[in-house]
Amino acid sequence: MTTEQPNLFGDIEEAPRENRWPDEKVEETNTLLNFLPLVKIEDAYPEKDDYEKLWQAGRECHKCRLRSTCQQVVFGAGNMQSKIMLVGEGPGKDEDIQGLPFVGRAGQLLDKILQAAEIPRPEVFITNVVKCRPPGNRLPNPDEVKVCRNWLEAQIRILKPQIIVCLGAMASQTIIDPKAAISKIRGRWFSRQGIKIMATFHPAALLRNESYKKPTWEDFKQIRDEYKR
Ligand code: SF4
Repeated sequence: MTTEQPNLFGDIEEAPRENRWPDEKVEETNTLLNFLPLVKIEDAYPEKDDYEKLWQAGRECHKCRLRSTCQQVVFGAGNMQSKIMLVGEGPGKDEDIQGLPFVGRAGQLLDKILQAAEIPRPEVFITNVVKCRPPGNRLPNPDEVKVCRNWLEAQIRILKPQIIVCLGAMASQTIIDPKAAISKIRGRWFSRQGIKIMATFHPAALLRNESYKKPTWEDFKQIRDEYKR
């Protein structure tokens, strides 16, 4: 998947004040708060409080056109008790065939990065912003992201990771700030609702541009230290 995508969201909706990073709402409350900017909690499957139920529903999803051209929904995989969640852009060809995220060349590079950071892949949970492969690995369209990010919101709500790593521009714009530029925000910790968030380059970007490797490793050293803390 490609990862550099200016104007991903086209005409960006103005987020309600309480949804905007870096303002935080961390008070104790029984009311569900949305985690992702621009997501409405009522659209994010509030009735699903169990990951198995969410996964079953997600696998049956046909809410956008991407489902008509992909082989299957790649909902996410890994340790559901993990304190760290990695979020990429969307499935590619290999992921679409296998039904698992990050199993192609970019996934193999991610495995090596995680190994170097002493974070075993079986310990992490990995998913994407969109769960179905866009045809020809094109960028997901804003309307596809808009509907699919509700699944990501629900995954975060149910799995409750302590750390979220945004791999690439799309994940950063979906999770941190719709106007985020990956080159400007990578390597910095953000915090929302007690969850620490860091953006770094997508492994696919490293395959295209070697110069991203060093800063990505610097980011993963920080992620490793936070993970082991
Ligand atoms: S991309 Fe997301 S919203 Fe679209 S059909 Fe697949 S799971 Fe549903």
